[in-house]
Amino acid sequence: MLVRLIYASRAAEALGADALSGLMKSSRDHNASAGVTGVLVYTDGIFLQLLEGGRNAVNALYNRITQDARHHDVVLLSYDEVAERRFSGWAMGQANLSRLNPGILLKYSERAVLDPYALSGKATLALFEELVATAVIACPG
Ligand code: FAD
Repeated sequence: MLVRLIYASRAAEALGADALSGLMKSSRDHNASAGVTGVLVYTDGIFLQLLEGGRNAVNALYNRITQDARHHDVVLLSYDEVAERRFSGWAMGQANLSRLNPGILLKYSERAVLDPYALSGKATLALFEELVATAVIACPG
């Protein structure tokens, strides 16, 4: 039983490159052993994360993430049972929005800035798919 979950949140304080890469590294280590895959976007104090994996693993991880003091205003945007993963290539990929064509954000949003609080779950998933298609997702380290 696979599920896909997408949420958005606001960073408690601006995350520097070292803090972000530490978070990515520990996430990848944990996710690889739990069979969880996905993508994390961090831009302008906003997190947007997509998680895929077994229902128990994803639910347990999401519960832990919501308790994490490094962010707040966690909003569940989408939760679905899925037949297959779409983001199986990354234990946790990182999207670099500075490499994203602003036209792609405009395709789904009112303005060319990422505001997942104003996006539907469907639009958010479509945006993640564009991130993959335009290769702005990396898995450094
Ligand atoms: P512990 O490591 O024992 O930590 C307990 C609490 O301490 C955490 O909940 C957190 O509030 C705090 N904490 C831990 N490390 C730090 C730190 N370096 N700086 C400040 N506070 C800290 N974890 C994953 O495994 N996979 C993910 O995909 C994932 N994505 C995340 C996305 C976001 C936006 C955030 C903020 C966190 C994410 N995490 C992820 C981390 C997750 O919230 C837990 O910290 C992690 O899973 C370890 O859980 P634990 O119960 O072992 O907590």
